[in-house]
Amino acid sequence: MTPKGKGWLLGDFHIHTRWSDGHLSIREVVDLYGSHGFDVIAITDHVFDAYTLEQRRSRGEPVGLLPGIFNSYLKAVREEARRAWREYRMLVLPGWEITNDRGCYHIVGIDVKDFIDPDLTVEEIVEGLRQQGALAIAAHPGRRSFEKGPTFSCQHLKENMEQYRHLFDAWEIANRYDFFYDIWEKGLKFVAGSDFHREEHLNAWKTLIKTEKDPEGIKAAIRENSQVSAYLSRPAPEVKPRPGRLIKFPSPSAVSV
Ligand code: ZN
Ligand code: ZN
Repeated sequence: MTPKGKGWLLGDFHIHTRWSDGHLSIREVVDLYGSHGFDVIAITDHVFDAYTLEQRRSRGEPVGLLPGIFNSYLKAVREEARRAWREYRMLVLPGWEITNDRGCYHIVGIDVKDFIDPDLTVEEIVEGLRQQGALAIAAHPGRRSFEKGPTFSCQHLKENMEQYRHLFDAWEIANRYDFFYDIWEKGLKFVAGSDFHREEHLNAWKTLIKTEKDPEGIKAAIRENSQVSAYLSRPAPEVKPRPGRLIKFPSPSAVSV
């Protein structure tokens, strides 16, 4: 990798693929983000706790990353990371999202090296991430607009924000289309991510970071959090001319040169 100097990097640190419940393969995700000019992404497929896993199995839903396939997943992410750098000069970091719906906490790990038991406590999971040199991110600490039913009242990290405020490297200030004002108000370190599952989520909250384009520089910049910015994009709104207000232009034959 060539050193590039410090500039603003466009990143997304919360992305799911077909290794859990996303609609695209890692390769498709890399091509999508790479062709849209991203500098860094993290692939963060779900690791479900035992209770959630049982629920998902009974409903026939994808079961995500199990210990037996974890090394194959890491290998697949690393292979695509090499291609992403070659073809797009985009960094791809291996990660996962511990999705513990029994304890009501989701934790995103970035630049992970090993599996961590998703049934551990929040403190134990974060300690495990520290030992791997990975980042620990508190995922979507607030109700998301698309959530229906009882899960939105299940917010362990939000309810214990003071207890955990210094435990995490950063908190998601925004997730997909939702902004969590508490994180801003309390002055917590932050990132923003799309919680990508489908192609349309390319237009959603992202992160801008001013640092060098290498994994250690990016992790250090998120930990320091002095030059991090949340960024929201969407497709240009469709503009329809309103009837009765159209401006009539003369026909070409009527224009004298
Ligand atoms: Zn989640
Ligand atoms: Zn997620």
